[in-house]
Amino acid sequence: MQTLPLAVTANVARIRARTQSMIMAVVKADGYGHGAVTVARAAVAAGAGWLGTTSVAEASALRAAGLAVPILTWLHPSGIDADAAAAAGADVAVGSVAELDALLAQAASTVRVHLHVDTGMSRGGCPRGQWDELIALAWRGQQARRVRVVGVMGHLPRADQADPAANAPAVVGMQEAWQAVRAAGLRSPLAHLAATSGTLTDRATHFGMVRVGAGLVGIDPSGTVEMHGASRLTAPIVHTTAVPAGTPVGYAGAHVTDRATHLSVLPVGYADGIPRELSPQAGVEVRGRRFPVVGRVSMDQIVIDTGAQSFPVGTSATLFGPDGEATPTIGDWARWAATIPHTIVTGIGPRVKRSIA
Ligand SMILES: *Cc1c(COP(=O)(O)O)cnc(C)c1O
Repeated sequence: MQTLPLAVTANVARIRARTQSMIMAVVKADGYGHGAVTVARAAVAAGAGWLGTTSVAEASALRAAGLAVPILTWLHPSGIDADAAAAAGADVAVGSVAELDALLAQAASTVRVHLHVDTGMSRGGCPRGQWDELIALAWRGQQARRVRVVGVMGHLPRADQADPAANAPAVVGMQEAWQAVRAAGLRSPLAHLAATSGTLTDRATHFGMVRVGAGLVGIDPSGTVEMHGASRLTAPIVHTTAVPAGTPVGYAGAHVTDRATHLSVLPVGYADGIPRELSPQAGVEVRGRRFPVVGRVSMDQIVIDTGAQSFPVGTSATLFGPDGEATPTIGDWARWAATIPHTIVTGIGPRVKRSIA
């Protein structure tokens, strides 16, 4: 069994073994559901030199918790607030000429910016045809001391493929953007492109820094490196009954028992992030054995079939954890729900009590 900070530490070590570049610990979405401050502290202690979040508000929370390393923010739904960014000591990614224009118009002091270029995803970032205009405007803004260009960022569209060939066009685009920025006289900006998968599988994507989120909490989107699971979800059995064969279970009687058996209820449901659509393989661990989830997932409850075993109320069940064997992993839940592990960890609802072991 591994505690959360130790797992993050071990995962940073795995990442460090694969890259010489600086490491940005991405702790958006509350550290992928694990607690942004906890994950950030552990990652920085283990050697991550940067932090990344989507919003300036998340950066402020990290500053309030005493984290002092540079923080990059890259999503500003109501425009970049230069004052808020300055107050948080946060760098901002600028993904279009219009965004940079608006920032320059309001920047009272020098804002640290990263030019965000689209490297093939069409999901934010400056389109290629406008790189020159963005860079020229950034140069003028830097001359006027409104901004300082500290980075150039792209993003890999093939974030789950352990395939350098799939990354190659983005790598070339990133090199071109970085060279264009330097050719314009903006010196030594930090180039960064890779997230977890690129970091673990393709050195050509590393540039000056890698941005790792999923990997910190034990998820390898490429499926090639064993990372350390950082969380455990448990629930106590709140109800146990013996039922005969032919008993319908849950809404719509979607499952009917095929033999006399025992059913136990766990007080977690889709409001807590248990996916409602699950394959019949879905199960949980109780006292070292795996038992299937049966019937529909309700908003607040699921039912497990424990066969001949009758577990008393209060017995703890583990939905997922890092132990392996009978205990499902987050990856198992992702498979059972036909999704990716990220949606499992970020979907855990606010009612679930978090504690740091
Ligand atoms: C979420 C995110 C990352 C981290 O991705 P992982 O695959 O979780 O490591 C990196 N960069 C950007 C821009 C992101 O939004």
